[in-house]
Amino acid sequence: MVKDAPLHMVDLKGQYAHIQEEVDHAVLEVIRSGAFINGPAVKRFTEDLSDWLGSTDEDSIHVIPCANGTDALQAAFMALGLEPGDEVITPSFTYIATVEVIQLLRLTPVMVDVDPGTFNIDPAAVEAAISPRTKAILPVHLYGQCADMTAIMDIANRHGLHVVEDTAQAIGSVWNPSGDSARGRMAGTMGSIGTTSFFPSKNLGGYGDGGACFTRDAALAERLRMICNHGSRQRYEHELIGMNSRLDSIQAAILGVKLPHLKGYNAARVTAADRYDALFADHPLIATPFRDPRSSHVFHQYTLQLGAVGDGPELRDALAAHLTSVGVPFGIYYPKPIHLQKAFMDLDMSVEGLDVTEDLTHRVISLPMHTELSGDLQARIADAVRAGLPS
Ligand SMILES: *Cc1c(COP(=O)(O)O)cnc(C)c1O
Repeated sequence: MVKDAPLHMVDLKGQYAHIQEEVDHAVLEVIRSGAFINGPAVKRFTEDLSDWLGSTDEDSIHVIPCANGTDALQAAFMALGLEPGDEVITPSFTYIATVEVIQLLRLTPVMVDVDPGTFNIDPAAVEAAISPRTKAILPVHLYGQCADMTAIMDIANRHGLHVVEDTAQAIGSVWNPSGDSARGRMAGTMGSIGTTSFFPSKNLGGYGDGGACFTRDAALAERLRMICNHGSRQRYEHELIGMNSRLDSIQAAILGVKLPHLKGYNAARVTAADRYDALFADHPLIATPFRDPRSSHVFHQYTLQLGAVGDGPELRDALAAHLTSVGVPFGIYYPKPIHLQKAFMDLDMSVEGLDVTEDLTHRVISLPMHTELSGDLQARIADAVRAGLPS
């Protein structure tokens, strides 16, 4: 019997095989040039990404590269000049980095619930959480689908709040509520600042760490650039307290090769998601991802909800054990909400009304999702999932 090929949660090696020559050339060019820090590859990539995001001469989108997506979030809040005690409304159903930077800057995270369909921050909960100390809203475009940016921007405008979009999982996703494609806006370009990550497994991933901020505001762009460079725009003159956060030239060169493929990569993920949807369509214990018709979805993750609202984690944990035993990788994003993490236990914060978040942490499971998935691989994965659930 021929042994089945191993399955991967993310297949970076398989993807590299298609672009090997270009990547190798770009990396060698940086090494031979010796321009490892702030070399021409960094400038070229940031300009290309700005164009890719829809920047024009009349409406520029500034891209400020940095060392990772967590630093991008930190730089964003530093650039906005928030003060200790200022409140930032954000979901608890997210990766730790989102809320960690708020806390690190001694701002006050106010974690609110998410929509049970999209997994994204619930605008009604945002509105209800606003206090005189609220200064910003930090939506996360979770798993690759835009949060309700129409409602969030409306709330922000009415209350004079900043919006920072955590776009680490959603680069290339478009918020387009009118259905008129000319008026769609890229995730990360609607709020005051958008942040993203080029962590290898992200939709636009480097071969190491990387990140960026996006903004349409030229003055904020200048502050972000300074903050990522020790608060300096002229060598040995430091006007602000900043950080040391750069995108390596080698990473920029690799990302520059991958950027022209990003539309295709995101489309491959959607194709794979469509196949999974069909494979699980009739299963009584599986809810496939809800797709908000107002947003495109770039499927950073393909996440199932198991069982019914209020169920404990037993079904999910049994499936996880089965998948482990048959060698099918999976992820649980996220098994514990931020407001229940030990690091946040001593904080003075309200944790009521996070029922959807807590319920989802018991019932979600994410399946392999990447650009190299074939129908055959997905059929194997789906068979294993079905076998791991009660029939
Ligand atoms: C990956 C991720 C980050 C952090 O990015 P790093 O580059 O790993 O620092 C932040 N927020 C979300 C939602 C993420 O998925």
